[in-house]
This record gives sequence, structure tokens and C-alpha cells, in this order.
Amino acid sequence: MYDIEQIRKDFPILGREVYGRPLVYLDNSATTQKPKCVVDAITEEYYSANANVHRGVHFLSQKATELHEQSRETVRQFINARSSNEIVFTRGTTESINLLATSFGEGFMQAGDEVILSVMEHHSNIVPWQLLAMRKGIVLRVIPMNDQGELLLDEYERLFSKRTKMVAVTHVSNVLGTVNPVQEMAATAHAHGVPILVDGAQSVPHMAVDMQEMDADFFAFSGHKVYGPTGVGVLYGKEEWLDRLPPYQGGGEMIQSVSFAKTTFQGLPFKFEAGTPDYIGTTALAKALDYVSAIGMDRIAAHERELTLYAMQELGRIPGMRIFGEAGRKDAVVSFLVGDIHHLDMGTLLDRLGIAVRTGHHCAQPLMERLGVEGTVRASFALYNTKAEVDALAEGIRRVAKMFGS
Ligand code: PMP
Repeated sequence: MYDIEQIRKDFPILGREVYGRPLVYLDNSATTQKPKCVVDAITEEYYSANANVHRGVHFLSQKATELHEQSRETVRQFINARSSNEIVFTRGTTESINLLATSFGEGFMQAGDEVILSVMEHHSNIVPWQLLAMRKGIVLRVIPMNDQGELLLDEYERLFSKRTKMVAVTHVSNVLGTVNPVQEMAATAHAHGVPILVDGAQSVPHMAVDMQEMDADFFAFSGHKVYGPTGVGVLYGKEEWLDRLPPYQGGGEMIQSVSFAKTTFQGLPFKFEAGTPDYIGTTALAKALDYVSAIGMDRIAAHERELTLYAMQELGRIPGMRIFGEAGRKDAVVSFLVGDIHHLDMGTLLDRLGIAVRTGHHCAQPLMERLGVEGTVRASFALYNTKAEVDALAEGIRRVAKMFGS
């Protein structure tokens, strides 16, 4: 039994009102709300176990270090990585990708080398590669998609050349909800001797991911999108790759010894974790992962699939509705426009009804260009959303449409 009422009680914010109406929170792709156990874990560690990690011999430092390293193990298990050496804590997906682009670019790329991306990437999986292009003269190749929002895998194959050094592709589109066949794409990349980075920002909250099955070389995600705190995320990397990559940032924690003549670095994963980590954040992230694991990722996925199908059906009935993204495998995101109502007007008026959606380009301007729109309205679902909330959204859209006479 998926006890939605009980689940909703775990998230205190869901009980609040906005503008005198019950909150309908459908902006989960941007960030998710937090269960009480995650917020409590933060307070509890500050109150009872706060000390800087790794460097201390004293009781509290050892306690905090234990919690931090246990969290790394929780992440390892959650994504089924081989070793906790493969789990690098970062500030989030964006930092994970910047780390990889910088480090990989430094270690393995020359002018004229190529990176394959897709047309549906979030800016955080485009701009770090463009910065590298500016620094090193590398070239970006882009996988196109069809009108349903599915990547063209034949075209993907054709983009490989002798100069291809990396594939960087999102697991799930934050605009279209398309679930890309990353396991198959990884196999293609490997057949060409090329590693692949998968941006898991929008998949980790919605489905079980298994690094050994997916066989991606690198995988990035953010804690705050999977019911954890802001400011903490993960870069997974296969040990054989991470071992060979040069460090990203320099500072404390990542060194073995420092002299003005020569510095040697720590082993994995510490080589990539300069400075005091967000050890409170990692404890809270582990709590969040324990929370979703206890419900079961497969049950969460089934619940959200049902909601998404229901939303596609109910919104699809509204006159003038245009839904963007109708891939065969689609995740918990519905992007739309109605008639010629501007996305910002729709979002602002829905907000007055207590319904939180996101409007605009969703940090995916090249995708907007492909769709031929400036922006969309996006409703995105989480484990705590209900069909009644989808009904409220559909009803809200109809009301707004009526105001605009469409
Ligand atoms: N990639 C995708 C697909 C995303 O949806 C997001 C967040 N909107 C990011 C990357 C960036 O995540 P963060 O801002 O947490 O670093």
C-alpha cells in the first residue's frame, strides 16, 4: 500500500496555505520539499555531533567523520557503485559536471577534440563544456531529437569520430521528461572507446539507478532534488577514471603532504574534496536516501508514472493545450502552453490559486529553440503529489484560460 496521506504528513510544508489556499506544490524538478527526518538530522547533528571532519582526534570530530563516511556508504549502496572511493561529494550536479569537465579537459583533451552532448541538456551540462571549448578549443557535437522529444540514436552513432573524447547526456530531461536510454548510449560510447557522463539530476529522485548496470563512467546528481538538503551533491566516477584524473580544486583535505617544492595528493575520493565538506549536508542527504529507500524507489516510480499519465490525460483535454514531450518513456514532468497565453501569465495566475509551477526556459535554451518557443509552463511531480492536485492544476488552467477568453 502506498500510503500517500501518511507520506504527506512527513512533509510539514505541504500542510501550509498560500494566499489562503492549500499549497499545491508542482515545482519538484526545481527542488523537492523535505521530510521532517531530513530537517531533524540537520538540527540533531549541529546539536550533538558538530565538529570538523577527518582532521580531529577528539570524540566529536570522530563522530562527525563517522557520520560523513557512513553517508558516503549510503550513497554507494543507493546507486550501487562498486566502491565508496567512487563517490565524490560536491555542492550539486552543477559542481559535479564542472569538476569533471575541468579535470577531464585538463587531463585528457587537446584542441580539436570533441564532446557529444544532446539538444535537451540543462545549461549545467552545456556551459562547463563551452568554457572548456573557450580554454582549450574543443568542439561540441549535438545529438538531435524527434518531435516526441526522443533522441535520435542513429544520429548519435554518426557523431562519433576519432576526436570524440566524451559523451555527456542527461538521463531525464527536466523539460520534456524524456527518459533517455543511457545504458544503450553508454554501450555505444564504449564501443567507440569513449567514456560517458550521465546527468542524473532528474532521474535519481524518480527511479532506481544502478551504476553497475548502467555502466556510465560518470554520473552526477543533486541532494536537494531527492528530498535532501541544498548545497550537497555527488559525482560518481569509475575508480579507474577518477584515479587518472587530476585534482579539481586545491586546499585542505585533498593533500597528503605539502611543501613549497612539492605537494602530493590524497587518494580517492578525497583528492577531489578540497576544503571542509558539507558534512552536515551529507548526513541529511543520507537520511533522505534512507527515507525514499524505505518507501521503495520502484513504488515511488509507479506512483509518479500514474500521476504523470493522469496529468497528460487531464491536461490533454483542455482546449488549446500543447504538451511538449511525448516520449515513450517519460518521467514526472509535464511542460505545456495553452493557446497564446504567455507562460509567465499562466504561472503567475496559477500561483494566485495556490499552485506552484515553474515558467520560462528551464535552463534549457537550446531545447526551447528546438521547440520553437521562448518558454513553457512546467508541472513536475514528486512522491507526495496526488491526483487531486493534478485536478486542481487542470481546473486552475481552465480558469486562467477563461480569463484570457481562450
Ligand atoms: N541537470 C538537470 C537535468 C537539472 O534539471 C538540473 C536542475 N534544474 C541541473 C542539472 C542542475 O542542478 P543543480 O542546480 O542542483 O546543480
